[in-house]
Amino acid sequence: MKNFLRSLRYLRPYRVRIAIAVLCVICIASLWAGGLGMMLPGAKILISDEGLHGWAYLSLVNDRMEAKLVGQKTPPGAAIEENGVVRQIDTVVNVVGLKKDGIAQKAGLLASDWIIGVNDGEGLQRLRDDLLIRHLAQLQQGQEVTLSVVRAGSNHPHTITLAMGEAKLASRALGKVAAWIPDPGPVYAKRFNMFLGLLVAVFVITILRGLFTFLQEYFVGTAIWQGIMDLRCDNYNAVLHLPTTFFSEKGVSDATSRFVSDTGELARGQNTLLGKTLVEPAKAVASIFIALYWSWKLTIIALIAGPPAYYFIRRFGKKMHRASKRALESWSSMLGVLAETLQGIRVVKAYTMEGRERKRFFQVNRQLLRQQNRMERLDAATSPTMESLGIVTAIVAAGAAGYLVFNYKMDRDVFLVWMAALFAMFDPVRKLAKVSMRFQASEAAAARIFELQDAPREVIRPLSQKLPRHTRSLEFRNVCYRYPSASVDAVRNVNLKILAGQTVAIVGPNGSGKTTLLSLVPRLLDATSGQVLIDGVDVMDVTLRSLRSQIGLVTQDTVLFHATIAENISYGLRRVDRQTVIEAAQKAFVHEFVQEMPDGYDTIVGEHGATLSGGQKQRISIARAILRDPAIMIFDEAMSQVDSDSEHRIHQAMEGFTKGRTTLVIAHRFATVLSADIIAVMQDGMLVDAGTHKQLLDRCRLYQHLYSTQFIDGGGVSAVRT
Ligand code: ADP
Ligand code: MG
Repeated sequence: MKNFLRSLRYLRPYRVRIAIAVLCVICIASLWAGGLGMMLPGAKILISDEGLHGWAYLSLVNDRMEAKLVGQKTPPGAAIEENGVVRQIDTVVNVVGLKKDGIAQKAGLLASDWIIGVNDGEGLQRLRDDLLIRHLAQLQQGQEVTLSVVRAGSNHPHTITLAMGEAKLASRALGKVAAWIPDPGPVYAKRFNMFLGLLVAVFVITILRGLFTFLQEYFVGTAIWQGIMDLRCDNYNAVLHLPTTFFSEKGVSDATSRFVSDTGELARGQNTLLGKTLVEPAKAVASIFIALYWSWKLTIIALIAGPPAYYFIRRFGKKMHRASKRALESWSSMLGVLAETLQGIRVVKAYTMEGRERKRFFQVNRQLLRQQNRMERLDAATSPTMESLGIVTAIVAAGAAGYLVFNYKMDRDVFLVWMAALFAMFDPVRKLAKVSMRFQASEAAAARIFELQDAPREVIRPLSQKLPRHTRSLEFRNVCYRYPSASVDAVRNVNLKILAGQTVAIVGPNGSGKTTLLSLVPRLLDATSGQVLIDGVDVMDVTLRSLRSQIGLVTQDTVLFHATIAENISYGLRRVDRQTVIEAAQKAFVHEFVQEMPDGYDTIVGEHGATLSGGQKQRISIARAILRDPAIMIFDEAMSQVDSDSEHRIHQAMEGFTKGRTTLVIAHRFATVLSADIIAVMQDGMLVDAGTHKQLLDRCRLYQHLYSTQFIDGGGVSAVRT
């Protein structure tokens, strides 16, 4: 749960809303308890003979006498003899229980005694059971009363005097409520109004609960999405500072899916936490309190279901965690396949690979389905398991409670209400089990999200200083680089010193490490050992901003953003006026084709510059580099996508532009190579030789080979022409 808890930190700024939601939860739980609490009065009104008032009076009397009394019909023929007169009695108050050393017991009352009336000095005043209880209930604490009592086996009443004790808070409250509602008396039909009143109360409670539920869900939901938004921003920030090797290893789609599906899963978990997880336990606690109030011993019996429930929840939870993690990984592979085929849709079509791609997509899709099925299975299994457990315990507890009921130790209606409270408790517990599943799923998502945040960022040494504009030299000193996933160095022990303003062409077969070597200059990669020095300062010791802002980079795969051409040219620069953009565009031969576009420089180029040709894109990226006025220019096979017609002109532009700048060019066409001050030849990551075209043609066999093959390819022809 570590990562999930960490994700909650993002909710801190919205704690006011969360606090309101928590208050709402408390209200919801109280209303829930209130609704449950309404059940017993409901039962009393609907089912039992005594009614609401009779119940209130009886519980007051029971409390004050510390006994358990029940109003009863007598068996047929029951009679008493008083002063020689025999009188039939049809109802009595039966003493069914006595508190040990309680007021009634001390006064001499025995269990199974019949109380038939009161004797207030003027002889026996015979009262029907309900009236008698009502009479007793009117007495205040400390008031004395003389009861007329008939003991089993005798029909001569005797008197017992006792002083009323104190009633419990609940009974007193109940008495107050009863006093407030008009007493319908013993006529059952008259209770209908009370029943209606109860229904209104239930209605009001439900409406209020609905209102609080709305507020709670609304506040929680909005707070969570805000938090998720902040989290996404943080993640984005983290991703922007990840080294480029992170993406070449894990793939871009993996990071993408962590933004999309993982945050969604996390939001669902948080929503559950602040919704169900607060509400349901609150409801469970409320129900437990009610159940405990009616019978604490029985309720404890019911709680033995706890440990096995805990065991199951834990087991399922672990499986859920695993399934969720795999499902999220499957999401990311699916996005990977999608991105790859959709971006390469032209190639897929041209090579009629639709079938194969469909199969590939189907496979990752099915993988995802399998994990989702597993999650559903766990989710689905949780409820029935919890339910069965609950039912078994409920049956055990109900058996015990039944025993009490049939032995007059518990009222029938209390039994019903207690059972209802017990069931009311199981429902939230069952839901909580599901909640725990959700948490496990979210934890897996949170872990993946924070993995992104915690991945090592680009190295920034403390005390990095600003690099002043490059004026003297650029030096590779014993530089080695090995990709994290590779077993051999891609660049090995390269030593090369370039003076400011020089143009260096780097040639070599494919995979000889040219791109890797030049990536070390703007620190797209950091040398594994050795140093790259600009004006004698190690690039590791300067701020990334000051370093990169003076390096212009034009690569083979041009990157254009979904924006206007002008914005793409001025990318990375603030407040550039149109004239400056146009000047740069003219130098890079962008101007001529932009002029023909309907919106000119305001034409949107589409994602990845989809609406432009390769050569056009390349020229825009050169214009972008020109506009930045860099001290160091890097061209990595920049000409490979430009048709030979414009290549010639761009070459001219480059020549003008690179004057006074240190220029590093990787080129296959010798037109570019020939004008360089130094030509460096690379093979297998090593710098084999460096010198002028003439020198190399004389002494370097690799160079001779490269030159002759290029010449035959036609690249050399244009070189000869210049
Ligand atoms: P060049 O630009 O000269 O064609 P590169 O510098 O791109 O060559 O690659 C040099 C070597 O490093 C190659 O053998 C290539 O397979 C390897 N390589 C390139 N990029 C990566 C990467 N991201 N992870 C692992 N190995 C890589
Ligand atoms: Mg390359």
